[in-house]
Amino acid sequence: MAELETFRRETRDWLLKNAPPDIVGLPANDLEGNWGGRRATYAVPGMKTWLLRMAERGWTAPSWPKEYGGGGLAPGEAKVLSQEMTRLRLPPPLIGFGLTMIGPTLLQYGNEEQKREHLGRICRGEIRWCQGYSEPGAGSDLASLQTKAVRDGDDFIVTGTKIWTSYADKADWIFALVRTDPAAKKQDGITFLLIDMLTPGISVRPILLISGKSPFCETHFESVRVPVRNVVHKINAGWTVAKSLLGHERSMIADAFGGAGAGQRTARLSALASLARERLGDARGQIADPVLRDRIALEDMDTRAFGFTVQRAKDGAKAGHRPGPESSIFKVYATELNMRRRELMVQTLGPSGIGWEGPGFTESDLETTREWLRSRGNSIEGGTSEVQLNIIAKRVLGLPD
Ligand SMILES: Cc1cc2nc3c(=O)[nH]c(=O)nc-3n(C[C@H](O)[C@H](O)[C@H](O)COP(=O)(O)OP(=O)(O)OC[C@H]3O[C@@H](n4cnc5c(N)ncnc54)[C@H](O)[C@@H]3O)c2cc1C
Repeated sequence: MAELETFRRETRDWLLKNAPPDIVGLPANDLEGNWGGRRATYAVPGMKTWLLRMAERGWTAPSWPKEYGGGGLAPGEAKVLSQEMTRLRLPPPLIGFGLTMIGPTLLQYGNEEQKREHLGRICRGEIRWCQGYSEPGAGSDLASLQTKAVRDGDDFIVTGTKIWTSYADKADWIFALVRTDPAAKKQDGITFLLIDMLTPGISVRPILLISGKSPFCETHFESVRVPVRNVVHKINAGWTVAKSLLGHERSMIADAFGGAGAGQRTARLSALASLARERLGDARGQIADPVLRDRIALEDMDTRAFGFTVQRAKDGAKAGHRPGPESSIFKVYATELNMRRRELMVQTLGPSGIGWEGPGFTESDLETTREWLRSRGNSIEGGTSEVQLNIIAKRVLGLPD
């Protein structure tokens, strides 16, 4: 404990000294966080400095090994760092699928050359990644994917279409599932490939959504040449890697909505409750509608309780423990909770919560509406809620088919 307290003091001092003043209090959500990458732009100049300083210390990926650009922190130290950053209202220096999905997967399945090539670049925010799993005919039934990779000497030639590829138009590299053995049982003919988006033959087309701007893209591969050395794990053994990455993805989603993100979301709900008191308050300064009041309190309690549960699971996980099928439980609950919360926020705002644009709505009102529409995707991304319930039934509870 004494050692951790020393670490806390030193960490706080370092953060106070090194965090540029203009990043304090910046939001850390998908839209406003720093994703890094070859084409990164910085609306807040201090963010770049923040990234460079934190990366130099290995604190963009605090618990990854130092030799690959991480901070080498023990779980307790990483937790202290996160607590101190929250306390000082400092946003993460970097977010994205490199840190949360492909990085942890490479640590487990990548060979030494791949770890050396990619992990440092992820930690320094030099490369932004996207995920090429889903296809027009392969979503929940992912193993039906048809994008094919045919061997040609030291390369594969990749042809096919991926869909719902979030941020493909901004990404530098994609991790993709491709079919390398069409004759094998469907899970057995899949390979996990790392592909540079600058490779000739790749084209990306954005998709528009109900919530306005969309991160989604269609990604086409037309005879794209990819070196065989970019296979993660083994040829035709990509399904194992794919499942492991999905475990990381589901944990990341649960953490964003219930764990690390819970404080921020609770604060936003509290702010809305205050606003509702102003707009819909009675003489005593309470929200006049008792049902609405009750629902806000319940939502706040559920969010806090779930935040503790996620934290307990994290604390309980032994060092090196990787998320298994139980990550589906967190994924379902976190996303259902977030969708309920977003709906409640819109209801709390009353007529101001259904604006799309134009006068009469504040920026915050419009953000609430758009976030509500965005949240409808929560029960789909990373595997739908129905499919998670199937996984929980079969692989966690051991129920028969
Ligand atoms: C916000 C968001 C971001 C995404 N980002 C990415 C990304 O970056 N990269 C990527 O590759 N993909 C991405 N996806 C795609 C996502 O992984 C798929 O949409 C998802 O796996 C579901 O596939 P589908 O859309 O084809 O639906 P389908 O699989 O066609 O499912 C349709 C409906 O049938 C139900 N269903 C299907 N099978 C079963 C079953 N066995 N039992 C019970 N119910 C079933 C589903 O629950 C769903 O309600 C993203 C999706 C969203 C919403």
